[in-house]
Amino acid sequence: MSGTLYVIGTGPGSPEQITLEAQAAIAASSHFFGYKPYIERLNLTPDQVAVPSDNREELDRARAALALATEGNTVAMISGGDPGVFAMAAAVCEAIDTGAPEWRGIELIIVPGVTAMLATAARIGAPLGNDFCAISLSDNLKPWAIIEKRIRAAAGAGFAIAFYNPISKSRPWQLGKALEILREVLPSETVVSIGRGVGVHRGSIGHQALSEVKAETIDMSTCLIVGNALTRVIERPEKPDLIYTPRWVPEHG
Ligand code: SAH
Repeated sequence: MSGTLYVIGTGPGSPEQITLEAQAAIAASSHFFGYKPYIERLNLTPDQVAVPSDNREELDRARAALALATEGNTVAMISGGDPGVFAMAAAVCEAIDTGAPEWRGIELIIVPGVTAMLATAARIGAPLGNDFCAISLSDNLKPWAIIEKRIRAAAGAGFAIAFYNPISKSRPWQLGKALEILREVLPSETVVSIGRGVGVHRGSIGHQALSEVKAETIDMSTCLIVGNALTRVIERPEKPDLIYTPRWVPEHG
């Protein structure tokens, strides 16, 4: 018997930013995996079961969800934002790739969501209005040297960069080092948009010059969008500043 596994993006935090497709997938599921605070905000019905995941490693959690779906259940794996952006969809694919042959027969439905960089960008203007990329500063699963290389290359090539997983108790120095590299490559006045807990109660949005950003003022619920040399600040009377990166690039970049 083989069931269904939904991998569902629930957006950055506000109920308005959960898509109708995600709501329908949540309503259709009987068992829920995922980070506890994300599941708590779903208001499950009494017959829907939250499977405690006791901080298990992502791949183990993906395997447990696949095993439960194989028994014929409709299982949901819940991610914040989009499940394909530094989240569970890739872990589920990896588990299928390396796992039991019957897992390939499971109905796998990945439901996209509003990812943190898009929610942050929309709150402040259009800092991702031209070419951009996203970099996770977590070096849990990739070497720090590769992260440095990517930051230098992306900033040097004029991409705006959205940074995820900027800092945490177990990764205290990485953001400071990333800012150092960015300051070597980009002008000190480069605009950095800072979205903290966007869509969540007490969330905030703001911007600073690259030279002013202090790693110790940033926390793990924050997405930073470092603009390129063309990113601009529009000051407006009685309205928050708008940040945008123009759609055009001059002849010599
Ligand atoms: N799948 C998620 C990202 C998971 S990685 C997504 O698509 O958004 C976790 C990181 O996402 C956090 O460290 C932070 O950088 C960012 N993030 C998640 N929710 C956020 C929010 N509401 N506001 C700002 N950044 C957020």
